[in-house]
Amino acid sequence: MGFTAHWINLMMLCVKTVTYSILVNGEPKGMIIPTRGIRQGDPLSPFLFLLCTKSLNGLLNNAAHQGHVKGYSLCRNSPPLTHLLFADDSLLFCRATIKESQRVLDILDVYGKCSGQQINRSKTTIFFSKSTKVDSRNQIKLALRVPEIIQYEKYLGLPSLMGRNKKASFNYTKERVWKKLQGWKEKLLSQARREILIKAVIQAIPISTMSYFKLPVGLCLEIKSLIRRFWWGQKGERRKVHWVKWDTLCLPKKEGEMGFKDLANFNDAFLAKQAWRLLHNKDSLFYRVFKMKFFPNCNIVPGFEDGRVSDLINPCIRTWDENLVHGLFLPEEAAMVLSIPLSHTPVEEKIIWPFTPSVRNFMWRACKEAIPTKHNLLKRKILNEDKCEHCGVESETTAHALWNCSTMDEIWESTSGFEDRSQLGALNIMDLINLTHEKRKNVDLLAMVMWTIWHQRNQLHASSNVFPKAQVLQQASQALTKFQQSQQSLTNHAAATGPQHCA
Ligand SMILES: [Zn+2]
Repeated sequence: MGFTAHWINLMMLCVKTVTYSILVNGEPKGMIIPTRGIRQGDPLSPFLFLLCTKSLNGLLNNAAHQGHVKGYSLCRNSPPLTHLLFADDSLLFCRATIKESQRVLDILDVYGKCSGQQINRSKTTIFFSKSTKVDSRNQIKLALRVPEIIQYEKYLGLPSLMGRNKKASFNYTKERVWKKLQGWKEKLLSQARREILIKAVIQAIPISTMSYFKLPVGLCLEIKSLIRRFWWGQKGERRKVHWVKWDTLCLPKKEGEMGFKDLANFNDAFLAKQAWRLLHNKDSLFYRVFKMKFFPNCNIVPGFEDGRVSDLINPCIRTWDENLVHGLFLPEEAAMVLSIPLSHTPVEEKIIWPFTPSVRNFMWRACKEAIPTKHNLLKRKILNEDKCEHCGVESETTAHALWNCSTMDEIWESTSGFEDRSQLGALNIMDLINLTHEKRKNVDLLAMVMWTIWHQRNQLHASSNVFPKAQVLQQASQALTKFQQSQQSLTNHAAATGPQHCA
């Protein structure tokens, strides 16, 4: 293929200096020396692929140019496609004639001889358009010696052909989510861990599909309810209490919520990104094909020529230019754009919890009235009465259980900064946190003591012991000190191993 011996030698060193061992019954075995391929995941491999397929690309373009291979046009005037190549997936298009398919085969043969690569016929399939006659189908299949496919095959993990039933085409996304969730023994995971799994793993599953397709709304709802049930936990068929509405949980973290993704919105955002590409990359094959097929006489967003979001914002007063927004978008869209808050600098001060996920999750739930206190259980008709078990007088609301109950006097009176609770007369936990913050008291200590009180309360439920009040403060302080030390050592570590040349 015209590479110099020195270059080939360098590449082969990358291949041959690697050795592999494989785990057999948990023990590494063998020193396997590869001869044919570069290490998987090596950053060089996509470049090597590009360099090699450049010649295949050239051969196919040449054949198309000379009219030997016709390719496939999506519609009249659309540029004909002869091939689409990506990583280990290649799609080749030609007319359904023996002559053209033989041409394609010849090209692959020449490429194979030059590059040393060969067609893997067991991984190759052929697809005919509906108008192809059965006779010619059989002849071509015989000549190419590859099997025919009918429906729902995938290209890059995405369905390449869409049937009438869109939901059936994408059902695999839901099945993958379901399988993952089944794999995790949900009852053994804390809610904080489930949060991480949902965000890092589950919500990532449909991303590649959603980047290119609009998932049916019904499917999004089904996936949402799978995730929701996992988040709140479920024992067998019995559904657990869903303490907070899912829509609320999808609000961003900076508004004090969980920041889960709303799948349908997420999907729209991804597709908007594709529209953005169609606005700005007008040399791409993607643009040329789509323009002819879908918007031959205008832009993808009519009237929006090379626009930027910043053009829609008044730079001095940092607000949306309402007239312009209304002029460019439909009323509904304009309302959505105008409802997006713009950042004013300087950014306002916020309370940020530097805590372990468990404590953070607990405090979030306490603020949301989403912990199973007797009062909350009564509201949901799970209990018939809500009297506090410790004082036996008042109803056990979240604020009562963690803060107001007279039996907690001993704990709070010895907690520095909170000796006189009547000073901080708050109605709920959210208020209390804000007041604590305003009065510059120790919010961390408050959170840790509350978390420990709740922890002890729940352990008591299982036994008949008395509330170990003396231990609460001690435990909370220890946990807090431990946490602060670990944070401190992290900062020190970062400082010690930071970039040396900066010093
Ligand atoms: Zn009480």
